[in-house]
Amino acid sequence: MLRFTALKAAMNRNTVMVKEEERRSEVFGRYVFHQDTMQQYLTREAYISVKDAMEHGTKIGRKIADQIAVSMKDWALSMGATHYTHWFQPLTGATAEKHDSFFETLGVGRGIERFGGDQLVQQEPDASSFPHGGIRNTFEARGYTAWDPFSPAFIYGTTLCIPTVFVSYTGEALDYKTPLLRALHAMDQAATGVAKYFDKNVKKVNASLGWEQEYFLVDRALANARPDIVMTGRTLLGHSSAKGQQLDDHYFGSIPNRALAFMRDLEVECIGLGIPVKTRHNEVAPNQFEMAPIFEETNLAVDHNALLMDIMDKVAERHELKVLLHEKPFAGINGSGKHNNWSLTTNTGVNVLQPGKTPMSNLQFLTFFITTIKAIHEHEALMRAGIASASNDHRLGSNEAPPAIMSVFIGEQLTAVLKELEGVTDGKLSPKEKTDLKLNVVGKIPEILLDNTDRNRTSPFAFTGNKFEFRAVGSKANCANPMTILNTIVAKQLQDFKIEVDVLIDKKGLKKDEAIFNVLREYIKQSKNILFDGNGYSKEWEIEAGKRKLSNHKTTPEALKAKISKKTFEVYEATGVMNRKEVEARYEIEIEEYALRIQIEGRVLGDIARNHVIPTAIKYQNTLLNNVSGLKTIYNTDFKKYAKEQLEIIEDISMHIGLINAKVKEMTEERRKANILKNSEEKATAYCVQVKPLFDTIRYSCDKLELLVDDQLWPLTKYRELLFTR
Ligand code: ADP
Ligand code: MG
Repeated sequence: MLRFTALKAAMNRNTVMVKEEERRSEVFGRYVFHQDTMQQYLTREAYISVKDAMEHGTKIGRKIADQIAVSMKDWALSMGATHYTHWFQPLTGATAEKHDSFFETLGVGRGIERFGGDQLVQQEPDASSFPHGGIRNTFEARGYTAWDPFSPAFIYGTTLCIPTVFVSYTGEALDYKTPLLRALHAMDQAATGVAKYFDKNVKKVNASLGWEQEYFLVDRALANARPDIVMTGRTLLGHSSAKGQQLDDHYFGSIPNRALAFMRDLEVECIGLGIPVKTRHNEVAPNQFEMAPIFEETNLAVDHNALLMDIMDKVAERHELKVLLHEKPFAGINGSGKHNNWSLTTNTGVNVLQPGKTPMSNLQFLTFFITTIKAIHEHEALMRAGIASASNDHRLGSNEAPPAIMSVFIGEQLTAVLKELEGVTDGKLSPKEKTDLKLNVVGKIPEILLDNTDRNRTSPFAFTGNKFEFRAVGSKANCANPMTILNTIVAKQLQDFKIEVDVLIDKKGLKKDEAIFNVLREYIKQSKNILFDGNGYSKEWEIEAGKRKLSNHKTTPEALKAKISKKTFEVYEATGVMNRKEVEARYEIEIEEYALRIQIEGRVLGDIARNHVIPTAIKYQNTLLNNVSGLKTIYNTDFKKYAKEQLEIIEDISMHIGLINAKVKEMTEERRKANILKNSEEKATAYCVQVKPLFDTIRYSCDKLELLVDDQLWPLTKYRELLFTR
């Protein structure tokens, strides 16, 4: 039996040891074509050109591109690379690569390694089957990948990977990176404009991202013995084990040996690839872990997370482990998320979301802090839409962190500061009021924050001292989607803020700080409803949020609608992040993906229920029937006295088999009905409302059978084995 072979193997598995002879600081970025390496390999002219492109987004000329390509190739060959690829992030959620060899023939039996500017800067991959939401006609197959010099090339294995954007022939974004780069550009422009109020020397503002990646680690063979994990990344059935996470004995506990060996191996790979991983620990659920890097510029951090998700399972394979990135691989125990820690830093080295030492720097802090809150309030539904997926639906709003309602946690002290600011006089301020604000409100913030240690873990968007933490992001999501939204909406709000302040200065004759106080006061009043410091999991909050008219979209089809609202089109247009066509295309892709995911889960569940569970139940029932007829031969009419239990189980089994059969039939019928719907929105809704709820009923009977049937016969790895085998 597959399950028992796998179990035996898991028990015998030795811990794989990792060599860590070198210091991480020495290994860091070894496989990256970073600035130091560039300086070494590039001509001065080419180096300056790349640096310019990285810092100011200037274009790299054709001649220079040729030079860079040759140097990059020389470096890659010296590192043992044989192939190159444009590495990009299509809307499938995975990363994409098509490897080409550097090798070219010069004639019979003669060859050379070649790589030119053409291959570096632009490529036309034969990528006609990536989702594009109708932008690019499939038969045309015209998507281009173009080098993104903001993110350095790296070598993975023997392949030189060149991070690229993926756009259509007409320039529309077909990937995650393109809109993100545009959003970050909009953020830079808008934030620099506002930061100049406080420091004329500010020339650039970078958005930073520090992600925290949660994941499950299970024995590979045990996981492979389950078709649901293999096909969908989660268990579609399985009775909960007697012990789960109720003892809280896993969280921050000592890391099991095998997991630790994997982590060390993974860390070494990450460090070599320039991913600055720093933290590792156990998470709440058994066999659940977390890994976090030092935060970086957002575009780079997004690439690094995408790369990490790609290599995690490759490393795990060496340890006979499997990484589950799904948001809810196991029912009844905690799922996984990916906190996105976000802040804004100027080229002068100031994090504008960090309270400073002077009243002026604190006014800057309050400006960015309050503007962010206002942006979240304006676009709460879009923020929710940005983290919507079939898999994340299992977490959001199902009594587990965090709720499907967007809210912002700022803590008691900052709430008090906002309350003070709300009372600022309309128009010009008296000298006394100004001094008061300076001394008692704006001047006091650093002190206040030092002892602000209460961190509300139930909030989807929390301020944690010097950054906001978007906690509702799913563990397998590409961070680009939520980060594009967050940076876009805050950029737009900063644009508006600057216009409003300038009007007060120019037209009403207010002083700069008076004007800022006036606009902030209005923002606080307008966005109060988004602030919530209480228990986000509680029923009371749902009721209260309803009164506040905050959206509460529990399913992806509902949530995604905000992606094509008038407000959303406007915010993307105003910031130049996406045009209407691009936004609509993305919506189409996501809604289709939702239906496809549920469809696949439905098929897999149907298969397992019919081909694994029912036959096993019948086999066991036959054993019982044999037993009963044996008893009957010996005891004749008296047999019932000895076969009472058996008969009960026989009946229970029949009942559950009947239920499973009926519900699987019903589900197949509902799928058939959904499949003929032409409109993708209707189809997704049908899958959500008609198909998905049947999963629970089917599962219920399957899980009951798991408890009834002889353990020796059960073909699927059980929860206790998946979660507690080490
Ligand atoms: P937690 O207590 O939530 O686990 P940490 O304080 O350890 O969080 O930080 C988690 C993540 O936040 C890390 O990836 C870290 O690099 C990142 N981080 C810390 N400071 C900032 C910042 N100013 N901007 C963005 N990310 C940050
Ligand atoms: Mg965190």
